[in-house]
Amino acid sequence: MTPSLIERDLGVLWHPCTQMKDHEALPLIPIRGGRGAWLEGLDGHRYLDAISSWWVNLFGHAEPRIGAAIARQARTLEHVLLAGFTHEPAVRLAERLRDITPPGLERVFYADNGSSAVEVALKMSYHYWRNLGHPGKHRFVTLANSYHGETLGALAVGDVALYKATYEPLLMEALTAPSPDGYARAPEEDYRAHALRQAAGMERILARHAHEVAAVIVEPLVQCAGNMRMYHPVYLERLRALCDHYRVHLIADEIAVGFGRTGTLFACEQAGISPDFMCLSKGLTGGFLPLAAVLTTEAVYQAFYDDYERLTAFLHSHSYTGNPLACAAALATLDIFAGEPVIERNRALARAMAEATAPLADHPHVAEVRQTGMILAIEMAKDKAGREPYPWQERRGLRVYRHALERGALLRPLGNVIYFMPPYVITPEEIRWLAGVAAEGIDRATRDRCASPASTPNAP
Ligand code: PMP
Repeated sequence: MTPSLIERDLGVLWHPCTQMKDHEALPLIPIRGGRGAWLEGLDGHRYLDAISSWWVNLFGHAEPRIGAAIARQARTLEHVLLAGFTHEPAVRLAERLRDITPPGLERVFYADNGSSAVEVALKMSYHYWRNLGHPGKHRFVTLANSYHGETLGALAVGDVALYKATYEPLLMEALTAPSPDGYARAPEEDYRAHALRQAAGMERILARHAHEVAAVIVEPLVQCAGNMRMYHPVYLERLRALCDHYRVHLIADEIAVGFGRTGTLFACEQAGISPDFMCLSKGLTGGFLPLAAVLTTEAVYQAFYDDYERLTAFLHSHSYTGNPLACAAALATLDIFAGEPVIERNRALARAMAEATAPLADHPHVAEVRQTGMILAIEMAKDKAGREPYPWQERRGLRVYRHALERGALLRPLGNVIYFMPPYVITPEEIRWLAGVAAEGIDRATRDRCASPASTPNAP
């Protein structure tokens, strides 16, 4: 008998962010296609992709305009190195990114995934200070509970123990400031007051360490892989002022939250700030191809611009830098934003998400339902009032994941947090149905005590 795709897969593949032994009990799901917000399994089962396949998809699977743009580009130029050579899609995309991002971000450096973009921003920031005669500014400040990717530099400035702890001996040491995460606020505080109070912790670190700090790196408004924890935009406003005052760069990692996820095209807009570096990836190509861009200021660019012999150049490269196919996908994605009222339409969808999940706030094991734009998170807790979490070993989220799959939805909880971060083509009816599936899943997952060992699917 010919082996099934699952058997062949398990015979050869090693999957990302997975304890492979889990697949002894948890079947892999072969997918043969996708259309709109739906994925279609090899066996004909359909799954509503409530998490945009790790937050990359914006306008649905197999979106025909993006697909056609890639096909068109493939017929003329698939790739050329971007050192010494250039091409129309790379230039046009850079111009358009410059035009739609916050003011002051005028230079674009391409990479090919989110983690690489973070590496670029970290290296550029340090190198800027070095070129200016301050080589001692070589450290980075991060927020507690932040996530910036899996490569060693990105992991070093992250703070999610599940991914980081094992590799600690390999990592540079970051300075960690308290998170403005509103879930952790005192009962009498609101999100805004809490964010401002937490900013005082950042100020203490900068006051003491600014002389050795190159940059602060943050995920604006939502700490996505850190269980979709959210914070008030006032924190970013305050942080921008602190970075200016203490002369350190601000790196905004909008890899997950960019391109409309938080209700504005970029999350930084809600605080009215411009970072010194902005990292973009994921939705940049509508979820079709890997591509990342790091935007920075003319001042940073100029600090590298000199005679070759002075060795101030940024000699960083990835083979696929500025890949024309990926740039074509990104341009087609930006065309959709330019041609359709995406952000306005999303407001109605965000309202539908809020309304459909509102009853869950009263669930005895839901501690918080929170939302920022098109990201909605439901935090399960063992004890609602005291916010005592379920122990991770119980894998409550995994129960919701399994239930949703049975019902035809892809919900991949982060620990005890169930969240929706859907493609923008989801309909209000689909949102209501999804909320029902989530509610059933939460009921099932919290109904009794369970004690299955090992970790929860908990990946960005
Ligand atoms: N930064 C943030 C905020 C992310 O959410 C992610 C991925 N989830 C990354 C960086 C890393 O991106 P990639 O997976 O493309 O390396």
